[in-house]
Amino acid sequence: MKTTIVTPNLVQLNRLRFVNAYLVREDDGLTLVDTTTSGAADDLVAAAQQAGGAIRRIALTHGHGDHIGSLDELKAKLGDSVEVLVPELDARIHAGEKVVEGKLPGSWPTVRTTPDVLLAHGDRVGSLEVVASPGHTPGHVAFLDTRDGTLIAGDVYTTLGGTAVSSHFYLRFPLAAMATWDKAKDLESARTLRALDPALLVVGHGPAVPAPGAAMDTAIARAS
Ligand SMILES: [Zn+2]
Repeated sequence: MKTTIVTPNLVQLNRLRFVNAYLVREDDGLTLVDTTTSGAADDLVAAAQQAGGAIRRIALTHGHGDHIGSLDELKAKLGDSVEVLVPELDARIHAGEKVVEGKLPGSWPTVRTTPDVLLAHGDRVGSLEVVASPGHTPGHVAFLDTRDGTLIAGDVYTTLGGTAVSSHFYLRFPLAAMATWDKAKDLESARTLRALDPALLVVGHGPAVPAPGAAMDTAIARAS
C-alpha cells in the first residue's frame, strides 16, 4: 500500500495502483474513509499506526466492492473500538433491500458488518460534513473537511489521467462510468460538489487535485 501525506489532516492510501482510501486526522485518532478492495485490513491498520493514530471510525462514500471490500476484515480486527458509518441507501442495498428499480451496476459483495450509523446529508463525522451525492450509487456521499475545504468525492469524479465525472465514459478510466447507476443524477451531484468550491479534490481513483475548480468545470462541461 502506497501512503501519501496530502495535507496535515489527510493521508492517501493507494492500493493496486488504482484504488484509494483516506485517513483523516481528528483529535481522538483517525477516520478511515473507504477500505479499498478485500484483503487490505492489515495494511490499512499498519498505515494508521504509521500515521500516528488508531482508526476510530470507518466512513464509506458508497457500497461498491472496491470501497467496502475490507470492511468486514477491519471490523473483525478492530471490533467495538471502531464505529462504522455507511450511507443509508447503500447500507440498505447491502442488507438485501430493494431500494431502486432495475439492476444496480458495479460490484456489491456480501457484507456482514452492520453499520452503527446510517449517513445522511448534513451529518457530521468529526470534522467532515456529509454531502449527499447520489448517482454513481443510490446512496453515494462525499465528505467535506470543514477545516480546510478538502473534498473527499468518492467516485463522483475520477482523476486518473485527468479529472472526469463518472457519468461520462472516459477511456482513460472507463470502470467508473461502467459502474455508475444513474448518470443524470451523477452529473447533478458533480455540479453540487463543484458548488462547494473545494480547495482540494481527492477521489477513489486517481491522484489529489489542488485548486480543482477549473478541472471540475471542464469535466462537467465534457460530461454534459
Ligand atoms: Zn464505485
